[in-house]
Amino acid sequence: MNPEILTDRSDSDRTSVGVISACPSPRSEVMSVCFRPGDISTRHGQTDLVVEVDADLGRELSRVANAPWLIVASDFDGTLATLIHDPNDVDIHPENADALGRLAQYPRTVAAVVSGRSYTDLHRRVGHIEGVRVVGAHGREIDGPIRLTTDELALLQDVENQMRAMASEVTGVIVEPKDNGIAMHTQKGEAREVEGLIKALTAGLVEPNGLYIQTGKHLFEIALHAPDKGEAVRVFRQELGSMGVPGRDAAAIFIGDDLTDERGFAALGPGDLGIKVGVGQTGASHRVQGLAEVTAVLTSLAELRGQVG
Ligand SMILES: [Mg+2]
Repeated sequence: MNPEILTDRSDSDRTSVGVISACPSPRSEVMSVCFRPGDISTRHGQTDLVVEVDADLGRELSRVANAPWLIVASDFDGTLATLIHDPNDVDIHPENADALGRLAQYPRTVAAVVSGRSYTDLHRRVGHIEGVRVVGAHGREIDGPIRLTTDELALLQDVENQMRAMASEVTGVIVEPKDNGIAMHTQKGEAREVEGLIKALTAGLVEPNGLYIQTGKHLFEIALHAPDKGEAVRVFRQELGSMGVPGRDAAAIFIGDDLTDERGFAALGPGDLGIKVGVGQTGASHRVQGLAEVTAVLTSLAELRGQVG
């Protein structure tokens, strides 16, 4: 049977695949990852899949996988897990969990999930993957939930109350309290109403209180502190530095799909690798089309890193 090339698996979020190895590409300009047909079950009934990433990215993966120290940091929603309306329903794709878990077990390798979700929420979804570092609140919560002062807690409660009251006027939006802010998911809201609500929240809550705004796909979030996913990469590097690892010996990879990930890409240096998932302007050096490619990238990386002594 001819292999089918998937460019985006985001509409088949329950696909289960088993990766056997990197395999020779049918075309010289791409690198492929083969999935064992017997392990595949999809809504579309595919029985054989080849996910392709461009050859330059393949070479870059080989290069960073051979670095003496490796930091792998990935966003969660829309990168490791399919983006859907209800944030409570989102799980990491098992293949991605497997690849990250393998990476985390290798020596001199740091694997982390860096998300805008609260640490507590994110830990429920990826905390079971042994060795994987959990970073919530856009880089503010590294390995644990943030501790707010009494004044900050009171302000956060006030913001939540006012946001809930204002959002109740607009059908379809979901308000979600986080450790460090309050998020609003707008995917099912009417666009003009959502726009008006965001303007009202900005003028009525954000500006008077000196708060921060973080926007993403169907997401508007008011945060107490400046969001910066790049902080995770910097902290991991500092940790290695404090262990005596020279900066040139550590390569970092950051993978993400949203505007919030741009600060992660911005924290990378010349020897690092940024991978943007999907469309949109980016500062990342490389791009993949969707979640299937992320799985291919992570799985390839786990294979390649496993071959490094
Ligand atoms: Mg995302």
